[in-house]
Amino acid sequence: MKLEIINENCPQNHKCPAVNVCPVGALTQKDFNAPEINYDKCISCGKCSNFCPKSALVLK
Ligand code: SF4
Repeated sequence: MKLEIINENCPQNHKCPAVNVCPVGALTQKDFNAPEINYDKCISCGKCSNFCPKSALVLK
């Protein structure tokens, strides 16, 4: 399972609350862009994908 960002699902107009949900600090956000994933840190736990109301973070 690998986390993917679905940019078109993210309105990119707010501070991403999922960044603070990640237990390992794998998500970062520049300005109001969609968050970026550090795959060296991500453990594919799914917390961010369960949290994002826009389904912009998807574990595949
Ligand atoms: S799947 Fe888990 S570890 Fe990976 S970015 Fe999302 S919250 Fe962080």
